[in-house]
Amino acid sequence: MTDVRTRLEQLRAGDLPVHGGRTLAYVYDAGLPELDALARDAVAAYAGANGLDPTAFPSLLTMENELVGFACDLVDAPASTVGTVTSGGTESCMLAVQAARDGRPDVARPNVVLPTTGHAAFRKAAHYFGVELRSVPVRDDFRADPAAMAAAIDEDTVLVVVSAPSYAHGVVDPVAEIAAAAAAHGVRCHVDACIGGWVLPYAGRLGRAVPPWTFAVDGVTSISVDTHKYAYAPKGTSLLLHRTPELRRPQFFSSADWPGYTMLNSTMQSTKSGGPLAGAWTVVQSLGDEGYLDLARQAFEATDAIVAGVAALDGLEVLAAPDSTLVTVVTDETCDPFTVADEMKLRGWYLQPQLAYAGSPANLHLTVSAATLAHLDELLASLREAVAAAVAAGPVAVDPGVVAFIEALDPAALSDDDFDGLLVASGLVGAPDEGDRSDHHDPHLAPPGPASRVELALPERMAEVNAMLDVASPAMREALLVAFLDRLSRPSRPGSTA
Ligand SMILES: *Cc1c(COP(=O)(O)O)cnc(C)c1O
Repeated sequence: MTDVRTRLEQLRAGDLPVHGGRTLAYVYDAGLPELDALARDAVAAYAGANGLDPTAFPSLLTMENELVGFACDLVDAPASTVGTVTSGGTESCMLAVQAARDGRPDVARPNVVLPTTGHAAFRKAAHYFGVELRSVPVRDDFRADPAAMAAAIDEDTVLVVVSAPSYAHGVVDPVAEIAAAAAAHGVRCHVDACIGGWVLPYAGRLGRAVPPWTFAVDGVTSISVDTHKYAYAPKGTSLLLHRTPELRRPQFFSSADWPGYTMLNSTMQSTKSGGPLAGAWTVVQSLGDEGYLDLARQAFEATDAIVAGVAALDGLEVLAAPDSTLVTVVTDETCDPFTVADEMKLRGWYLQPQLAYAGSPANLHLTVSAATLAHLDELLASLREAVAAAVAAGPVAVDPGVVAFIEALDPAALSDDDFDGLLVASGLVGAPDEGDRSDHHDPHLAPPGPASRVELALPERMAEVNAMLDVASPAMREALLVAFLDRLSRPSRPGSTA
């Protein structure tokens, strides 16, 4: 038992830290260790409870209704508003699309209108639910274009989506104008506030100008808010709120058409752990409104300082003045963002590279949480050093032969041989090794298994990989990353001779 625990700790040591304010994507740190301990206890206490049946585990229903109630107050919800706790932002967004589709059974070929900056979760929903996605170019300021969005709506549109704010640029779309256009067509309008929904309400109270995006805006029919983001809850919860129970109804699923228990589900999961909900409820109850106000003040103070610090640094620039707590940083021609990210990683900071897309240049994304405030001087000093190192290295260049190799590949038919060829051509790996490969694997980097072909090992520096992806088309990026994930995801069978 202790051996397993030791191994678990060793495995975890190879991950990005979830506390300490140095991981500026994926994690949200309130900087309150006692709160984290309380949340962990709640998750553990409820790990085995099953949210499948609210009559069997009524405490989960109580916590869900209290959590939704707290969120309703944040987003100016009218008394008619209802909500559901989901497993995460993607599930909330997907269910918003599913409910909109199934709320319009009269539409044979439904479509969803989304700005190009809308979260990929909506593309996943369109893919899973057979809905057409109409991607509408945004304005030069990276905000959705109301006229273009309105023009994309037709009689088969079941949902219009806007972001508050968008993940990539941290700006809030013109929600009021777009929701009005949707309402004029009798179409639902979803505000994706997955990342902003728990922090923007406090921005207003802190005297910051925030464009309207809540249920106070006419025409907004649903809002997604992730509790596992700025509510600082453990991973595994988000909320999907609908303005009325009627709008939510198609989201619920029931099947009595089999001999077992009648299945009755509000989300995609059926059996679901009570842990994440109990963790989220505990964090929200503990912090309360005043706690969140204080955390929001810290996150915005840190955001402002980072924006000012970046502006003062040669070589860097903020791409879009943030409406929220997300900062998007671009480099000038003296260096590239991918090398800056690698240099930051060496200094103990994780900044997330974002590839060039539809007029948005390659950049670095920073999700700023409250815990980063205590480390601002260090962050800005590291950034200065990282940029100096990146300038000294010069912008990373992709070998023209590799560019040609990528351009010749068909993303719709990328084979294992193509993928191996690219890995070898790019110098990321050596040529396939015919010898035994079962005994020198680094568990995170080189999964063993009969289907593993060339040795796949992530380089310490990711700039070359990111630069290569950056020159590829979006379809090619998708195909390459799927091939990569396929190669990584192979069973580890140390005792097997198969
Ligand atoms: C994070 C995010 C999502 C998806 O949420 P997950 O919890 O990662 O599934 C959707 N929309 C926006 C704007 C987000 O920031």
